[in-house]
Amino acid sequence: MKEGNILSAIYTGKTKNLGVIGYPIHHSLSPVIQNTALQSMHLDYAYIAMPVRENELEAAVKGLKALNFTGFNITIPHKINIIKYLDEIDQSASLIGAVNTVLIKNDRLYGYNTDYEGFISAFQSVKFTLKRINTVVLGAGGAARAVIYGLLHAGVGSVHIAARNAEKAKKLANDFKELGNISSSDWNEKMFQEILPKTDLLVNTTPLGMDMYIDKMPPVDITMLPSNAFVYDIIYTPEKTKLLVEAEKYGYTVLNGEYMLAGQGAAALEKWSGCGKIDVDLMRIALHEALLKKL
Ligand code: NAP
Repeated sequence: MKEGNILSAIYTGKTKNLGVIGYPIHHSLSPVIQNTALQSMHLDYAYIAMPVRENELEAAVKGLKALNFTGFNITIPHKINIIKYLDEIDQSASLIGAVNTVLIKNDRLYGYNTDYEGFISAFQSVKFTLKRINTVVLGAGGAARAVIYGLLHAGVGSVHIAARNAEKAKKLANDFKELGNISSSDWNEKMFQEILPKTDLLVNTTPLGMDMYIDKMPPVDITMLPSNAFVYDIIYTPEKTKLLVEAEKYGYTVLNGEYMLAGQGAAALEKWSGCGKIDVDLMRIALHEALLKKL
């Protein structure tokens, strides 16, 4: 991506509107990745970040519809609450229980979850096959739901959820049991340690490794993983969490959350623009450059 790309657009009365709502929203890099893709594809849309507090969600959704927005993304804290204001949500968003993308068409609001598509798109980019492999997901929160749905949807052989809260992990496993082979445990249990030597892919979905947990990592003895294991941390700041640094030290293939964030954006833009496949790498490079500049 050439520097300056993002300043080249000229907006007119015909420009269509897109954006992201959340609170806080000033840190969002979605405007950078979306406007980079829109402008490189010469699509006449503008994408902006809009701060919307929890008690303003209904008014904001009505407003975006009244303003003829083509669609919008939804981030923390609205991904679950948005559902009650939509006319339809697709099956994957319904199973995941969260919507991050809305398309407004013929006066109706359609909800999707593209986080799982973003998570999965990373494997295509790095040419890693998910079919029938054994996977472990660390954490049992909102992002874990999208990750688990994505893995089962992609045809992995098994998913084991390991978390500090065994009850939460068990409930999550139960929610997805119709989709494939899924189990759960407390990550301090002996049974969990025994799963590690048969694990092909380990995914961290906890915040351990970022912000106030920057020096921390989940309590996993990564030396027990097979030598060809893949370690994926969905965190993207820092670029390499403690888990990824340790994993790299032992020779494992590692990946951070940049692909997931860029991929969810590309999948959302595909729905809004109807343009077919969007170049995820273009968005990921824009994201990476923005992260380096701390935009
Ligand atoms: P969430 O719903 O709050 O879930 C967080 C999970 O981590 C829960 O299982 C929670 O356990 C666990 N956890 C939190 N603090 C912990 C600690 N100190 N020790 C052990 N476990 C802890 O959050 P989320 O929305 O799933 O997001 C999780 C992470 O994913 C964040 O770092 C976020 O930045 C990242 N993320 C990345 C992308 C991307 O596009 N790359 C997208 C979404 C999220 P309890 O239930 O016991 O609290």
